[in-house]
Amino acid sequence: MKQILIRGATVLTLNGTNGTQPAVGDVLIEGTQIAAIGPDLEASNEALIIEGHGKLVMPGLVNAHTHSSETFFRGRYEKMPLEVWLLYAYPLLMGPVIDKELLHLRSLLLATESLKAGVTTLSDCFFDPPRHELDRLGTVFGAYELAGIRANVSSGVMNIPTLDALPFARDVVPTDIQQQLDFGPPITARAYVDYCRSAIDAFDGRSGRLRFMVAPSAPQRCTADLLTACFELAVAHDLPFHCHVLETITQAVTGPELYGRSLIRYLDELGVLGRNTTIAHSVWVDDADMAVMGAAGVSVVHNAVSNLKLGAGVAPVRRLMEAGVTLALGTDGVSSNDTASIFDVMRVAGLLHGASGPDADSWLSSVELLQAATIGGASSALMEDVCGSLEPGKAADIIMLDLQDCAFTPMNDIARHLVYAANGSNVDTTIVAGEVVMRGRRMTRFDEDALFEEIREHVPAYLKAHTEVEQRNRFLEPYFAEIHRRAAASHSGVYRYAGDAPLRQKNWQLR
Ligand SMILES: [Zn+2]
Repeated sequence: MKQILIRGATVLTLNGTNGTQPAVGDVLIEGTQIAAIGPDLEASNEALIIEGHGKLVMPGLVNAHTHSSETFFRGRYEKMPLEVWLLYAYPLLMGPVIDKELLHLRSLLLATESLKAGVTTLSDCFFDPPRHELDRLGTVFGAYELAGIRANVSSGVMNIPTLDALPFARDVVPTDIQQQLDFGPPITARAYVDYCRSAIDAFDGRSGRLRFMVAPSAPQRCTADLLTACFELAVAHDLPFHCHVLETITQAVTGPELYGRSLIRYLDELGVLGRNTTIAHSVWVDDADMAVMGAAGVSVVHNAVSNLKLGAGVAPVRRLMEAGVTLALGTDGVSSNDTASIFDVMRVAGLLHGASGPDADSWLSSVELLQAATIGGASSALMEDVCGSLEPGKAADIIMLDLQDCAFTPMNDIARHLVYAANGSNVDTTIVAGEVVMRGRRMTRFDEDALFEEIREHVPAYLKAHTEVEQRNRFLEPYFAEIHRRAAASHSGVYRYAGDAPLRQKNWQLR
């Protein structure tokens, strides 16, 4: 069996409580798995030897929530709340769908950025509205297979018209405009489940690294029968049920307005909260929500950077953890972030929760953040037995960082350096399932220069067309800004806008 021996490295296993202390030693990889960790390990003559002196070896990071659909929109938007940003990043009046060649480049770009920044596993809630087509989903799987990354990939679904998923929308948006936005019949629960079954048959388990996940977009965007059908399917196939819940103040008002209760309680009553459930965001949860989530054993993905970029708010992460929720970290899509780096999210999350109040004991420690970025993410992806820590028998999903760098010099506390001083560019080597997929900051499985060349050549025309789509949607912006403003004004919590300013035509800083 093919062996790799990493020799004489500083090893941080993040395995249990002792794993937070680094130790100098070797890591022996056999095939796809870690065979042994310790001093002076022996390997066969044919083994690939990687000198680890001056290098840190640690588990690959898990990006537990992202959307590859946004990867070409990096650096495109700012100063927009979610409800307005969605109008441009996922336009209501759609343009032509992205073609398959660009879809491939877009997915490969996300995988490249991720692997170079130490992310070995990602959960991609891929949105391809209005389509659910196996060959297009297959293009995303194919790009990840080419890059060598480990991933859960969905085809995210919604089947409630946008205006029915927002509070006040039918009052705020004039009737003639409403008619322009109401598209044909939405996908039924049965049709989506049939599609998922075909996707599971076609892609789940591919290359030993890729899995399908079931991703109903959000409780207010999916019918009850779609949510329960998705959950049953996820449990039957041991797949994640991946859902956005309570990201913004508008959504905090949405539950009481549409269902007479919080969106978490609504999901609980539907019976779709459980071990398979991953909740992205969870910013606007209350104490009763958190108790329900903890009892159900759900995971929460904390998207600290995205939540700040879209002004969504700050998730009560410490209280969620105390309630028994598993904490994972996500970048969210590259348009609301604008990177795919979990190092950035760890650092921002650490800094953010230091501002949560004067009780320093409740702030997040670097070790907790590292655990959220590794085993927490793996657990949310239902992969805690596969990856998320370095242990014999687990997959060899390993990153190596150069310690001979300002970020680690002089060394004080490795976890704190990793969270507060390091970034993705300190990652020198990335190994997934025992295969070196990035070494010396170069991808090993494909020609990355050609990838960038193709993007430079083909993507500007796509972005130009997208600018036209944005302009066609721009007249809707005041209505969505007003929905957001009304929701914020009607929310009973402490977060309020100053005064009830009349609706203004705003320039949302489009390019
Ligand atoms: Zn998201």
